[in-house]
Amino acid sequence: MAKTRGNHLILALAATLLSAPAAAQQTGSIQALLARDSADWSGEPGASGHPEMTADAIRAATADFPNCIARMWPEAAKRNISRASFDRFTRGLTPDLKIMDLLDSQPEFTKAIWDYLDILVTDARIEKGRAMLDQHRAVFDAVEKTYGVDRYIIAAIWGVETNYGAIAGNRPVLRSTATLACVGRRQGYFRGEFLSALEILHHGDIRPDHFNGSWAGAFGPTQFMPTAFKRYAVDFDRDGRRDTVDSIADIIASTANKLHRNGWTTGETWGYEVVLPTTLNFMLAEDRRQLTLAEWQRHGIARPDGKPFPRLHDKAYLLVPAGVQGPGFLMLRNFRVILRYNPAESYALAIGHLADRLRGGEPLVQNWPRYERVLSRAERLELQQLLERHGFDVGEPDGQLGGRTRAAIRDFQIKTGRIPDGFASTSVLERLRGR
Ligand code: CA
Repeated sequence: MAKTRGNHLILALAATLLSAPAAAQQTGSIQALLARDSADWSGEPGASGHPEMTADAIRAATADFPNCIARMWPEAAKRNISRASFDRFTRGLTPDLKIMDLLDSQPEFTKAIWDYLDILVTDARIEKGRAMLDQHRAVFDAVEKTYGVDRYIIAAIWGVETNYGAIAGNRPVLRSTATLACVGRRQGYFRGEFLSALEILHHGDIRPDHFNGSWAGAFGPTQFMPTAFKRYAVDFDRDGRRDTVDSIADIIASTANKLHRNGWTTGETWGYEVVLPTTLNFMLAEDRRQLTLAEWQRHGIARPDGKPFPRLHDKAYLLVPAGVQGPGFLMLRNFRVILRYNPAESYALAIGHLADRLRGGEPLVQNWPRYERVLSRAERLELQQLLERHGFDVGEPDGQLGGRTRAAIRDFQIKTGRIPDGFASTSVLERLRGR
């Protein structure tokens, strides 16, 4: 999602080569490696400030890259990868250092949740999804029967993750995971992903020239990570290969299997848009507070179209993503399962809502507070620092608005006689500045 830095890259590259450490300049091979592999890297240290993300650490790790790969052979052997496969797939492997810029990119401006929904749930995406459901009806029938997972959710994941496979990424997964396993601040985690990617190639599940994905190694129309593939991929068309890139049956069934194994409740939906009464105690909107739909009704919460909840004993938590001016949602257990697929609330909501639209459901009824400007990263950081200064616990201010910041905003709102919806609006920031 991060934007490339355009012409700035060329200048940064020149600076990188000029400032390469003397030790590296002494050996031709390291210099050659740096010249070849830093072609797209900004040469700048990562914004995280992590010691593995300084420009020097990245250069040193790059110089050591072939050794780093070689050191993983014993672990590969333990996974029953043959020496021949290991050599074949790692021969000539070089790091893709552009990934270092992407790993630490912290966009100054983030999108509002309504922007994500506008982008991800469009008429074109609904139409294409319905065509996919139609075209692959027999597979969806069989998969639904086997795994008990709603076909519309699977189609929606396919649509949200990659626009039904149109934008699944074109970076070789082995190279991306090898880079992240040997360079930068996530090496421990990515060693497992790299070795799993090698296993996939060794078993011949995915065609090597089709084994491409995002910079972080998620691949195929529904974006499996290599370790998730190992755990959840299935050979539904029984051709002997689990192919979540080129086999529609394997893609649909593997995605369903992942949701099933993560606790999907058959026959239950993901959630409902709800209207909140003006008298609502907003402190109830906590993901740890699970009430039955019947109990939520007693709190005055209803569906906007006046329809009854079909199953009053299902348990849900209340999510109010844009504060009191926006819609509320009652989230059932299956919403948490979608969050395990994609942990961002806005994406999970887009998946749930797109699924409803594919099923023939209506658009959301209530308006979003589109007049609200989303706080920039600097403003989010300032908000947290001001909350902290006024004695509200936000943890370590990091510019990321999580549950702790939301709770701190609520405490501040209560103290100042406002509705405690926890929404980080510009007016909350202004009130904090004025104190
Ligand atoms: Ca197969």
